[in-house]
Amino acid sequence: MLIVMKNDATEAQVKAVIHEIEAMGYRGIPITGAQRTAVCIVGNQGVVDDSRLLTMDGVKETIRVTKPYKLVSRETHPQSTIITIGNVTIGGAEPVIMAGPCAIESEKQALTIANLVKEYGAQVFRGGAFKPRTSPYSFQGLGEEALKILKKVREETGLLIITEATDHTNIELVEQYADIIQLGARNMQNYSLLRRAGHSSRPILLKRGFAATIEELLMSAEYIMAEGNPQIILCERGIRTFSDNTRNTLDLSAIPSIKEVSHLPVVVDPSHAAGRREYVIPLSRGAIAVGADGILVEVHHDPPHALSDGMQSLYPEQFAELAEELKALTKQARVNK
Ligand code: PEP
Ligand code: MN
Repeated sequence: MLIVMKNDATEAQVKAVIHEIEAMGYRGIPITGAQRTAVCIVGNQGVVDDSRLLTMDGVKETIRVTKPYKLVSRETHPQSTIITIGNVTIGGAEPVIMAGPCAIESEKQALTIANLVKEYGAQVFRGGAFKPRTSPYSFQGLGEEALKILKKVREETGLLIITEATDHTNIELVEQYADIIQLGARNMQNYSLLRRAGHSSRPILLKRGFAATIEELLMSAEYIMAEGNPQIILCERGIRTFSDNTRNTLDLSAIPSIKEVSHLPVVVDPSHAAGRREYVIPLSRGAIAVGADGILVEVHHDPPHALSDGMQSLYPEQFAELAEELKALTKQARVNK
């Protein structure tokens, strides 16, 4: 339930409402909007009796939130969330481009790719330090050494850094180096990791699990937000279907579906969806055309020798072409608005 406060409600009145909600055995989370403050009740199992709340000073009305996720829902927070990190905004008018290798392999590799993607228009550099691999015998990432390389990339290029935390034992280390913490598809329902991410001061990019529904993705985002971190970016990266022509099937309909019910920004990872670089540019076009707030794409200067995901990594010249196309598409989208 949402307790909508009057436009002129005072801070003390909001506090009193939260206090009353706590006395009822629930939690009250204030949500400050452009026009008004609302208090979202979380922790209730069934219908909440709002009769006492409606009589309190400063309360305008109560609204039932119909979805099982509360804080991430658009019912609770009608305006779209815009996340600002330095001079980069995610969820605003311009799509964000996050690009880089699947994994950090060496300082030379990372700096070579970072300088190229920066030159061609990326704002955020991606690269795994801890890699969640299907096989225990595959390259697992360089760990802290890679995080130190990422720090150097930030210092030399000014690009923001996104890298994955794979469990609650490495998230503390990752948050010391990353500007955005990625939680991978395999970890979308790792609840201890989600809760820990909720205590981070860094924005979290949460990937959709390959067999997860939109509602399950949003419930996972709710875990993070309920712990106090409102800076969440969702990522569609393809789901598993009977279609075996691509590594996964990119669910483009997820983007408008999520945007209808949630205020969170949504980006698309065409690389893990496609599994082949030939499909990455067309899928990226589709992503922006259906309203994605950006893309997260794998780029390598020498894909045949990449230690992971070489087949789906764009050559730098292909990334340049993609970045140019996205600029043109964004302009077109604005004209059509
Ligand atoms: C990645 O982006 O490096 C990755 C492992 O992706 P996913 O979690 O989507 O498989
Ligand atoms: Mn990869």
